[in-house]
Amino acid sequence: MERLLFGTAGTPVSSIGTDSLSGIRRVHELGLGCMELEFVRGVKMGEETARKVSFLAGKLDIKLSVHAPYYINLNGDDETRLKSRERILNSARIGQISSAKCVVVHAGFIQKDSRLDAFEKIKQELTCIREQMRGEGLNIALRIETMGRNSQFGSLDEVLGITEVEGILPCIDFSHLHAVGGKNNSHEEFADILNKIENKLGRDGLDDMHIHVSGIEYSPKGEKNHLELEKSDFNFQELIEAFSDFGIQGMVICESPNLEVDALKLKEEYEKCIS
Ligand SMILES: [Zn+2]
Repeated sequence: MERLLFGTAGTPVSSIGTDSLSGIRRVHELGLGCMELEFVRGVKMGEETARKVSFLAGKLDIKLSVHAPYYINLNGDDETRLKSRERILNSARIGQISSAKCVVVHAGFIQKDSRLDAFEKIKQELTCIREQMRGEGLNIALRIETMGRNSQFGSLDEVLGITEVEGILPCIDFSHLHAVGGKNNSHEEFADILNKIENKLGRDGLDDMHIHVSGIEYSPKGEKNHLELEKSDFNFQELIEAFSDFGIQGMVICESPNLEVDALKLKEEYEKCIS
């Protein structure tokens, strides 16, 4: 990928149809560059649709990613882990047919374990999943997302640490990182995050990023819900400046409720910075 693309988490609000094909067409009309296929309530897309999605996205040069179902806990009991594994594998199977670049995963909850125990269990689980993926010829990357609550697996250090498993990359949700304790909201802090990524993954880590951004409301416990950028205290202007300073590349997926409005705002802000 040769530049930073901006797009929506799912089909844009202004799309004529609610399906992914209409979404890709609308993303293209709006002048955006990417879209995340939201399998968050289950992998309902069939192989035939996935092939059509791949064809259309290729034709219109729209890059895709997949968001795996929310109901995943790789640190859960045996049954939960098995179901989680299947949900991730199904996301990867359909994602690969759709020519998506990656599958974004909320890895799970810390539960009663220490964070270190949770890390080890999730690492083991992801290693098994990658092994099964290799057996099936699935080479699409899995990206573990930084999460907005302390009760969830997904601090920046955890997400970077887990990339030691082959085929695992980070999804950096900057709004989630801000929602934990209200920090991570200045140019300096955003630069620290990008430096940490480069230290762990090298320049490749910055040249192939997958990012989530939205406005966000939070409490001392962390994330409450997503907001429009202008209705939130999230300092997206300084975030975009940091993107430009570091020359990062990849996809920025906007998860604000007004999807494309804020995606276009981020893109416009970025174009001002780089010109
Ligand atoms: Zn997510």
